[in-house]
Amino acid sequence: MLKISRRLVALLLVGASALASAKDPQPSAIVVGGGLAGLTAAFELQQRGWNVTLLEAKPSVGGRASLAATEWIGSAKLQPQLNHYLQGFQLQTVPAPGYVRQIGYLVDGQYFSVDDLAKAQPTTAESIKRYEKSLDDLASSIEDPLNPLATHTLIKLDGITVANWLDKLNLTPTARALVDQRIRSRLDEPSRLSLLHLAQQARVYRGLWEDERRVARLPGGSPVLAQAFVKRLKVVKTNARVSSISQDAKGVTVKVGATGYHADYAVLAVPLPALGKISLTPALLPLQQKALADINYGWRDQMLLKFKKPVWGKARLTGEIFSDKGLGMLWVEPALKGGANLLINLSGDNARLLNAFGDRQMVDQVLIRFDQRYPGAREQFTGFELRRFGKDGLAGGAYVAYGPGEISRYWRIWEKPLGRVLFAGEHTEVLYPGTLEGALRSGQRAAEQASLLAAGKPLEAPKAKLAESKPAEQKGGFFSRLFN
Ligand SMILES: Cc1cc2nc3c(=O)[nH]c(=O)nc-3n(C[C@H](O)[C@H](O)[C@H](O)COP(=O)(O)OP(=O)(O)OC[C@H]3O[C@@H](n4cnc5c(N)ncnc54)[C@H](O)[C@@H]3O)c2cc1C
Repeated sequence: MLKISRRLVALLLVGASALASAKDPQPSAIVVGGGLAGLTAAFELQQRGWNVTLLEAKPSVGGRASLAATEWIGSAKLQPQLNHYLQGFQLQTVPAPGYVRQIGYLVDGQYFSVDDLAKAQPTTAESIKRYEKSLDDLASSIEDPLNPLATHTLIKLDGITVANWLDKLNLTPTARALVDQRIRSRLDEPSRLSLLHLAQQARVYRGLWEDERRVARLPGGSPVLAQAFVKRLKVVKTNARVSSISQDAKGVTVKVGATGYHADYAVLAVPLPALGKISLTPALLPLQQKALADINYGWRDQMLLKFKKPVWGKARLTGEIFSDKGLGMLWVEPALKGGANLLINLSGDNARLLNAFGDRQMVDQVLIRFDQRYPGAREQFTGFELRRFGKDGLAGGAYVAYGPGEISRYWRIWEKPLGRVLFAGEHTEVLYPGTLEGALRSGQRAAEQASLLAAGKPLEAPKAKLAESKPAEQKGGFFSRLFN
């Protein structure tokens, strides 16, 4: 009787699993990395009926989401996918006041709007305008930002650093300090950047750059968006650091410690420095391996300083403000528990220099300078929060910022799957790298590619749609002026 029932159970189990597989034709995927790229890929695949497991190394998801308690959101024209998910998840944003839409400057500690600077320091303002015009000329020479290497002249731009190009513009010293700060805050140190990268990004945002960038705030910042994805995902495992991924003709095996997860496909949505720490079988292509060691990441650390009251008085430190003293982009954060908070972004080589400092020492360096400008700041100081992306082994930097020659060598190499492994993350995005929008788009692209592969369909060249912007204009003679 016992024997019969065991056989029966065994038969039933076989029958059940056969039934399960007959009923369970959905493909499966493991998504590695719980930043916004991985969350989007997981969500989009799950929406298509896939069985998805998301593995995140840290105790919580969100990745490089900002320290800002209420993050700036660009317009639907500039960041369509970000706005699409905010709306879809019914996350309320708050309109941004008009004055934060334009950038501002701190010169010798004094705040200037663009208009004020034009009145108070016309030579500096004209010099900055000359930089903007020259960059716009470069941008308009790129017909298709998806194909920035279209001509020999553009390829040549990739070999030039932004700093060398700026040298030739002969800006006034104050204008140069402000322009340097603007570039290093948004991308990286001008001496480390490819001029083609700066020009291609200017082309992508041409005509949209400033006033569309900050139209609203998301209370709680991008972690709120990350949590909205998590709420909709069936399987999310945190504290699950992936050490290896192997694949054969049937599927992938992803290892976290001694545990192996099996699926049809894997989406690898981790930054390049973290990707280099995952063992892949078969290995990455030689060019991809070279890129891991090579591609420049911008450096941007974030420091939230908390004060008992706004020591900056009536100075408008809100918006995107660039200082001539390398303090970085800064803005006033709503202090949710009273007091007054200031968010300071330390970028480029200024931040790299502080790398050797401990957290408290680093904060002191900034406070000392701040106190010189706003006396009493140190007495009013109550605490800080710090995110040092360059020191974080799971990030390895702020975001991709191509150095000289790197676009020529590595353009679009992460869009091609490695067998059953697909790549996502802001670094894989060609139009909007280094942004939330780019991370979301890359997750959508990886999900679309996995679906095509599972359906046995060929992968089309990824469709990357440019936000509506001004069309390119041809500028005769511009390059001869540049290269001469
Ligand atoms: C200081 C700063 C300010 C920014 N400000 C803005 C802004 O104002 N507007 C904007 O649009 N964008 C901004 N960005 C950019 C934006 O935050 C990023 O582009 C985006 O968050 C990147 O998302 P991601 O998913 O590609 O990568 P990540 O967010 O880095 O996600 C990758 C995830 O993978 C995990 N991981 C790594 N290795 C493993 C492993 N082995 N196993 C499992 N998990 C692993 C990491 O822990 C991480 O959670 C800013 C970035 C920084 C650094």
